[in-house]
Amino acid sequence: MTATATAKREAFYRIYIKDCEYCGKQFKRSAPIDVPPKYCCWACRSKGMVGVKREKYVIPEEYHEPIRKMYANGVGTGQVAKMAKRIGVPRTKISYFARANGWGQKRRSRDYQWRWSEKEDDIIQRCSDAHPKLVQKRLRAAGFERTQSAIEIRRTKLRAVQNRSGVSANDLAACMGVDVKNILAAINKGKLQAKRLPGYDYERAPYMIKNKDIKTYIQDWLPEINIAYCDKYWLVDVLTGG
Ligand SMILES: [Zn+2]
Repeated sequence: MTATATAKREAFYRIYIKDCEYCGKQFKRSAPIDVPPKYCCWACRSKGMVGVKREKYVIPEEYHEPIRKMYANGVGTGQVAKMAKRIGVPRTKISYFARANGWGQKRRSRDYQWRWSEKEDDIIQRCSDAHPKLVQKRLRAAGFERTQSAIEIRRTKLRAVQNRSGVSANDLAACMGVDVKNILAAINKGKLQAKRLPGYDYERAPYMIKNKDIKTYIQDWLPEINIAYCDKYWLVDVLTGG
């Protein structure tokens, strides 16, 4: 033992001379100052400790009623952790204590949290262009709580983006064989109806142009559109489809 360790031991330990609580024999032992020894040997200790509850953390009696009330009002958003900090015991100690008293823990069922309702899928489908943050807002307004990443995963699974109607200005320009500037000019002049995607900064939001608007545009402004530049398969699809 080093000199410091010896000093430390002397500071926190002392020599006790006591009678054994099991066999009654007198013994002499060094032990921590705040933990006086009770038994002369391990054999006596193991016999003497039978039936003795050893609790490191004890919940004081004055907290029993507040804990009962807390569980009655519902937990799940940090109330138990807060209470544990107040008492100074681990969080699990309180939940075990509550379970032992039959106050229970109110939990949502697995189904409730995981299964997507038709209403939710409908909202995701309708907002397939929007930023997940906005979709989350819409879902919340309808009474559903989902994380943004959960929404993104669900959106991929539903193929919501592929299923949306309309094309971007860039795609339309490629199909019509013109520069995107021409398409944007047509939109700005009000010749072509186009909506900006929600959820982005408005100035930067991409356009989403529906097939029926493209059809109307081609029919109304035919003189200034060069059909020869258009992709003919796409054109037929737009004009006949709708
Ligand atoms: Zn003994």
